[in-house]
Amino acid sequence: MIPIAKPYLTEEEAQAAYDTILTGWITQGPKVQEFEEKFAAYTMAKYAVAVSNCTTALHLSMIVAGVGVGDEVICPSMSYIATANAIKYVGATPVFAEVQPETYNLDPVDAERKITDKTKAILVVHQIGLPADIDAFKGLCERYNLKIIEDAACAAGSAYKENKIGFHSELVCFSFHPRKVISTGDGGMITTNREDYYTRLKLLRQHGMSVNDRVRHESNKVIFEDHVEVGYNYRMTDIQAAVGIKQLEKLDWIVSERRKIAAAYNEAFKDIDFILLPIEKEGYFSNYQSYSIYLKKECPLDRNSLMQELLDKGIASRRGIMTSHRETAYRNIQKDINLPISEDLQDNSIILPLYVPMKEEEIAYVVDTFLNILVPKAIIL
Ligand SMILES: *Cc1c(COP(=O)(O)O)cnc(C)c1O
Repeated sequence: MIPIAKPYLTEEEAQAAYDTILTGWITQGPKVQEFEEKFAAYTMAKYAVAVSNCTTALHLSMIVAGVGVGDEVICPSMSYIATANAIKYVGATPVFAEVQPETYNLDPVDAERKITDKTKAILVVHQIGLPADIDAFKGLCERYNLKIIEDAACAAGSAYKENKIGFHSELVCFSFHPRKVISTGDGGMITTNREDYYTRLKLLRQHGMSVNDRVRHESNKVIFEDHVEVGYNYRMTDIQAAVGIKQLEKLDWIVSERRKIAAAYNEAFKDIDFILLPIEKEGYFSNYQSYSIYLKKECPLDRNSLMQELLDKGIASRRGIMTSHRETAYRNIQKDINLPISEDLQDNSIILPLYVPMKEEEIAYVVDTFLNILVPKAIIL
């Protein structure tokens, strides 16, 4: 059985977790701080704040960006549902804009069309690891005086115009869920270049507490904390951070391995004219968190039957990225919703297995099976 994904974890990560447990300091402490410093250095952002997952990272980002009740935030519907949920948490309304068919990323033209007096921010998603056009959205946000927040859940290790994702804007949110390219079990990170955001994010993730546990522990004077605002418990643990530090050391290598597998798929499928392969324009560098293929109308087999035939041959696959507006929780949120591109991409895309290490034989088996299912049918048609 070939799975859709698996995290790349070794004895090193296990040892790091083991060692951390035996130090007795297991929740947010020195390892979290070290992970933050290393993640900030990696992305060349000024600051990084570790949190419990990307959904909580997005929630806190909404708060520090000043998004609140009655505001609108423009985001893609075609994203994992946590993108839209984070907007709802602060009482704001997600306004879904269309994506570009060739990149699955938010379309700046449609995003601009959806700006109203109530718009407060644009939540840009780097879908399945391919960066969105950050400069276009930064320009838009400057012109309309909006905040930009990046949902980079899938984009650790990806780059846009020579810089790693995490560098470019004021609030960038990452996930370390096992389905992403590096993992801490669950986990998240926010990078920011603003000191005021950094300070407030650190407060909010730990109950609004003015003195954190580590500082109090290390102090040789008695100090008391104040809770300066209503905060949350969105901490990452030191056990997770210890694993994250080891994962971060491997991130560039993992990305280069993922890119080799994507290149092998691209090469094998390049002559099939009834599918569209992922594209990466000049200046865009994907970590290939997922490898998604779009099946055109002329494809001889519909997407779901293709998925079943692959599964019958022992290969897991997934449908295209979900659209939030068609989920029960979001039906009726916007009147006259019209997102034909997003819906078509969700219904007619398929995600193929991609993980590290993926053996040559496994890649060849996926390629051969995919071709053997589709190509003879195309010839008969
Ligand atoms: C995975 C994902 C999230 C949620 O990340 P968690 O760490 O599981 O909370 C949010 N947005 C996008 C685009 C994702 O892919």
